[in-house]
Amino acid sequence: MPTEELRDAAAKYLMQTYTRQPISIVRGRGSKVYDLEGREYLDFVGGIAVNVLGHGHPDLVQAIQRQAAQLIHTSNLYYTEPQVQLAKTLVEHSFADRVFFCNSGAEANEAAIKLARRYAHSKYGADRFEIITMKNSFHGRTLATITATGQDKVQKGFEPLMPGFGYALFNDFATIEALTNERTAGIMLEPVQGEGGVYVADRDYLKRLREFCTKRDILLIFDEVQTGMGRTGTLFAYEQLGVTPDIMTLAKGLAGGVPIGACLAKESVASAFIPGVHASTFGGNPLACAAALAVCRVLLEGSVLDQAKRMGEYLAKSLADCKDRYRVVRDVRGIGLLQGVELTIDAKAVVADCLARGVLINAAGERVLRFVPPLIITQREIDKLLEALAASFTRRMGEAKDTHH
Ligand SMILES: *Cc1c(COP(=O)(O)O)cnc(C)c1O
Repeated sequence: MPTEELRDAAAKYLMQTYTRQPISIVRGRGSKVYDLEGREYLDFVGGIAVNVLGHGHPDLVQAIQRQAAQLIHTSNLYYTEPQVQLAKTLVEHSFADRVFFCNSGAEANEAAIKLARRYAHSKYGADRFEIITMKNSFHGRTLATITATGQDKVQKGFEPLMPGFGYALFNDFATIEALTNERTAGIMLEPVQGEGGVYVADRDYLKRLREFCTKRDILLIFDEVQTGMGRTGTLFAYEQLGVTPDIMTLAKGLAGGVPIGACLAKESVASAFIPGVHASTFGGNPLACAAALAVCRVLLEGSVLDQAKRMGEYLAKSLADCKDRYRVVRDVRGIGLLQGVELTIDAKAVVADCLARGVLINAAGERVLRFVPPLIITQREIDKLLEALAASFTRRMGEAKDTHH
């Protein structure tokens, strides 16, 4: 189907929940994707921080092909090896003792919220159920996770929301203290707020949060759906922020593009889940877990994490240079290959300029550009992004000047 026809059919047959860029992507290789007309694009979106190994990575493709031919799905009525192997791998490389598998980030956070409530109920009674989350956060689109998400635009029109949530200001410990009471069961946050516009948690703030939670037996929940799987240069962001959570959620990059989610916890917390209290039909199915195992192996055994760390530093430094050079750049934030550029102008215009130059980037909010490329991105590819950005900033600065006079 030609792109025009595809757009018309999408407008006719799909529920209109997305505004899409006007291209139709048909295949990918490494950090590049190709549209229907054969045009090449450098991919700094990576399926929104999902394609950590890029497109068509041979190890991932082979793992999926082999597993698809052998066994795709069985349900959790039976044992399957990829699921247990993946849990073992995640446990051996994290703070956690046990894993629950599901199919998305929102579902992983649902599991985390349910686990925190279950833990608090069984230990302190049914009056302990509140979860404190952050303003400007993002935790998913189910009813519980839009309630957890501290952004009006995500919640509006879906009321009544779930009871039992409170909202603190990110990086502001005093608001945590003010919201905490005998009903508080957990505090949930992203180590780097992604969708909210790329804001990094302060180390000192996290350290105080950790001590505060430990003293009161409040569960500290890290949503690493976006920051996990090497995005920040270590397998998980918490490793370099110097603080260990009690529960951690993963999804996006975990299986390199195959849908999967995971909720990880220490034994003392995980034991609140007993047979029958939580479940997922697809959760941890052999196909998704085989894909995730391949991703884990590449990240843990190869040089991808080191490369991601170095490229993250290069990208951060180059973007910081843009701030010195272009008035439209207000701030540059991030860790590793999760970088954000706050602009004084509409981010959508810059996204469109870059698309026209064959570079895919994405906006997080109205004024923030977000860069979450595959972890295999190279310096030359980053330089191409910078050229596209420079051209766009120059053009848009000219326009900004025109409108001022
Ligand atoms: C993307 C994201 C989610 C939601 O994941 P879905 O797979 O879309 O449900 C939750 N938390 C964070 C931090 C995310 O970036």
